[in-house]
Amino acid sequence: MANEAVLTPQGEDFPQWYQDVVARAELAENGPARGTMVIRPWAWAIWEHMQADMDRRIKATGVQNAYFPLFIPMSFLEKEREHVEGFSPELAVVTHGGGEQLAEPLVVRPTSETVINHLFAKWIQSYRDLPMLLNQWANVVRWELRPRLFLRTTEFLWQEGHTAHATYEEAQAETLQMLEVYRAFMEETLAIGVVVGEKSAAERFAGADRTYTCEGLMRDGKALQMGTSHNLGHNFARAFDIQYLSAEGRRELVATTSWGSSTRMLGAVIMAHGDDHGLRLPPAIAPHQAVLIPLAEGEVVRMVDKLAAELRADGVRAHVDSRFHLSFGRRSVDWELKGVPVRVELGPRELGAGRATLVRRDTRAKSPVPLDGVARAVRDLLEELQRGLHAESLAYRDEHTYTVANLEEFRERVGGGGFFRLAWCGSEACEQALGEGTGASIRAIVSEPPPGPACVVDGAPAAHTVLAARAY
Ligand SMILES: [Zn+2]
Repeated sequence: MANEAVLTPQGEDFPQWYQDVVARAELAENGPARGTMVIRPWAWAIWEHMQADMDRRIKATGVQNAYFPLFIPMSFLEKEREHVEGFSPELAVVTHGGGEQLAEPLVVRPTSETVINHLFAKWIQSYRDLPMLLNQWANVVRWELRPRLFLRTTEFLWQEGHTAHATYEEAQAETLQMLEVYRAFMEETLAIGVVVGEKSAAERFAGADRTYTCEGLMRDGKALQMGTSHNLGHNFARAFDIQYLSAEGRRELVATTSWGSSTRMLGAVIMAHGDDHGLRLPPAIAPHQAVLIPLAEGEVVRMVDKLAAELRADGVRAHVDSRFHLSFGRRSVDWELKGVPVRVELGPRELGAGRATLVRRDTRAKSPVPLDGVARAVRDLLEELQRGLHAESLAYRDEHTYTVANLEEFRERVGGGGFFRLAWCGSEACEQALGEGTGASIRAIVSEPPPGPACVVDGAPAAHTVLAARAY
């Protein structure tokens, strides 16, 4: 069979499987400069669907899109101490332009808090200007020593939201609201079961008071951070002197937030849903939701075109693959690799019998369906697949979430993958001890009562329940 030996099986070598899928499904390639990524048309089309859906959800909360410059004066980054300390190892700095050395080096944005807060200071005068709710879709650059397509690349694409509020409490509410936007997007659109929670102080965004995260569990048992939301408190307002005149006539500092999600989510979709035969795309983001494959030219193609038109009239993104220079098997495997949710296959004999074959990508099950029922059957199947992939991902997450009572048990089991729920006292020393020799880290502090009375590391009274895991 043509689809054998196409991909390294997941169980044999998951990282190799990932590389194989990215290459064979024609998703992305390394760019000529180390760490850069070329996003090929199929992955770009998936990203466009993700982006449109996320954009709609963000705007529904009252946020407007804007665009800020790629180059930021170095001095801007230096204004917030923690921010510059956190980002300096990853910065790309431009020292020359137009053939001359620049008076002040320019940073290629690693994130845009500094430039946006600079403009907030200009735009915000009074409480009437608040809240200010902005988002930008952009590329950012963070120098990456161990690049991996979609997961860690020197240049990546994302949205970054930046908001300013009259009070700390309002900034906190915004931070949590956007975390919920991310959670809903990941569950409803990407069909990935995630956990949400707060990051520990050590894992916080550089310059934030509080950082929250959405973490997914990939099919190799490793966690992936898929989106973060930060309450920046008054840190950036102080650094950039963003003050407003309150209704009572007092000068006050605003409180700001930022939140981001990136092309990394494409890596999550690949690793949370993919199987040994390739990608499995949730219909919500599949560029083609249904691909129709005629086995022969003539009558069969005419019928397939008619079915495709019916599907499109029903709002299904349908595509006809009439590349007759390729064998039927080859075309079929190609769309399976690319994760198309439903395939409709039609040959001359089936046409004579008045039926087509429906193939669903999630289970790979085939079923005959009468020609006049194809449109309806495909629509139903797409809904079922979206729900089914989500249910599968939730079940995987729950089946791979374990509660451990002591450090020995954690160390013994964490290499096998999964989320480990444990009691933590909150100290940095204990957090470090969890990582020693395990490569694991605290992924999220979750809002559950601690599973035991004492920290699993030092036995001090437990302050939190955390989920720890090995992560990308
Ligand atoms: Zn402890």
